Amino acid sequence: MIPSKGYAVHNAQDKLAPWNFERRDVGANDIIIEILFSGVCHSDIHQVRSEWGPSKYPMVPGHEIVGRVTSVGSAVTKFKSGDLAGIGCMVNSCGDCGNCKEGHEQYCEKGKVVWTYNAVEHDGTTPTYGGYSDNIVVNEKFAVHVSDKLPLSGVAPLLCAGITTYSPLRKWKIGKGHRVGVLGLGGLGHMAVKFAAAFGAEVTMLSTSPDKEKDAKRLGAHKFCLTKDAAQVKQFKNYFDFIVDTVSAPHDYNMTLRMLRTNGVQICVGIPPSPIQLTGQLLLGNSRAITGSSIGGIAETQEMLDFCAEHNIVSDVEVIDISTINEAYERVLKSDVKYRFVIDIASLK
Ligand SMILES: [Zn+2]
Ligand SMILES: [Zn+2]
Repeated sequence: MIPSKGYAVHNAQDKLAPWNFERRDVGANDIIIEILFSGVCHSDIHQVRSEWGPSKYPMVPGHEIVGRVTSVGSAVTKFKSGDLAGIGCMVNSCGDCGNCKEGHEQYCEKGKVVWTYNAVEHDGTTPTYGGYSDNIVVNEKFAVHVSDKLPLSGVAPLLCAGITTYSPLRKWKIGKGHRVGVLGLGGLGHMAVKFAAAFGAEVTMLSTSPDKEKDAKRLGAHKFCLTKDAAQVKQFKNYFDFIVDTVSAPHDYNMTLRMLRTNGVQICVGIPPSPIQLTGQLLLGNSRAITGSSIGGIAETQEMLDFCAEHNIVSDVEVIDISTINEAYERVLKSDVKYRFVIDIASLK
């Protein structure tokens, strides 16, 4: 077994605190990565607190991982020692259902996705532990190459927030000539703005907070709509080809549906825990659609990272010491971060 040091919780009420544990040995198809940066995703907090329950404890969260490969198994072909590598939300899947073969591992038809933490390996017993730690062992198929051209702290959130927004924008072929609304300016929303603008779309930030206008425009948005102001919302009636909805708190889906033009599509990448309310006429009347999307496959994650390296796109981050992680969680809950906390894993030593 491989000794590992991280931050863990041992029950739903616990604060994150230092914890020593062991990783599985490096198998023939595995690589071991010395972790350099680990992003803090809102879903870490949900899982730490067993809000998607029941969670598995002890839990080492973190699924936005960037680091350097320090050793590879005998059958590894994709990586060598010294390479930069990233790991996102998944570390395994069945590998032979239709969805896995087509590169949509996150939708594995056999339900055999192994999440990066709060899960068990296919052996049914070995727990997975995430990126708030100094190393990780992973099958090479579930690691992606990371360019040395970009600041690595800003790359880490691309492994979840980045791919979650990139994937549906690509699926719907969003680009030049499209009017895209992005609802919510947080970890997901700021990446949706950057990608939609980079793909050539006209981007409008839809936000309840007037303070977000300046920042949204700095990130690449062309227009701003204050959604608390009915007059501004009305100006965008039947306007958008697409709305990327990044909000996971309860909100008014009928307001955004009205903003879609005929055949417009609302893509939900955040979803509230309670059922959503839709007025049927708003869907039928203009042939509008509402759909969802969850992260992205491994090949697409690599494509996204390559695109980011080429177009100089990273997440806007606030780098923190791991000792301040519990305070960072409180700030995430208040949306008091621009736009992602990233743990400098050197602070663990
Ligand atoms: Zn995440
Ligand atoms: Zn599968």
